[in-house]
Amino acid sequence: MIKTYKNKSEITDLPPIPQELQSEFKNTIHQLNFIKNNNEKLEKIYDFLDSYNKFVDTFSVCHNGCSACCKNEIQITKLEAQYIQDNTEHLISNNYFNKNWDCPFLINNSCSIYNVRPFSCRTMHTLDDPKYCETNEEHQLYGAYFGRGVPMYEQMAAIIKTISPEIKDIRYYFQKTKNK
Ligand code: SF4
Repeated sequence: MIKTYKNKSEITDLPPIPQELQSEFKNTIHQLNFIKNNNEKLEKIYDFLDSYNKFVDTFSVCHNGCSACCKNEIQITKLEAQYIQDNTEHLISNNYFNKNWDCPFLINNSCSIYNVRPFSCRTMHTLDDPKYCETNEEHQLYGAYFGRGVPMYEQMAAIIKTISPEIKDIRYYFQKTKNK
């Protein structure tokens, strides 16, 4: 799909959330009440976000190979860090980190842990023009910083934070790569 970019002052009209997505959300919230294992809860939430992001893709300008947001602050919970450790070769190391380093999982402008990437990476989208992500100026985002401003994201974020309240930058948990 060809995406057209807007100036950050042009307001983006968002389409209504499809009825089937609203139903899937209600079902997911209901099912989460019966899941005891925290990793399974997280997977259930990630599965819903995969569906939701197909909808978001119809109006967001984010695309493959665009990785400016992977160089900014990336908030994750301990639960998600543990989930990455459990499902990849990467070990939590609690090293000293510098916020100017890129995300350690960004390889050749692509996410090397895409299927297990944390909530923050699944819920931040750009609405106007990716050039503003590069300059880090204020512009139109959808779901920035742990899903803020998007009710379904916020409800899912609250469930994750109830299980695992402490939030740190992803670089705090994983081996650094120094790109700057
Ligand atoms: S985990 Fe992946 S998507 Fe998230 S910031 Fe790192 S490279 Fe980017």
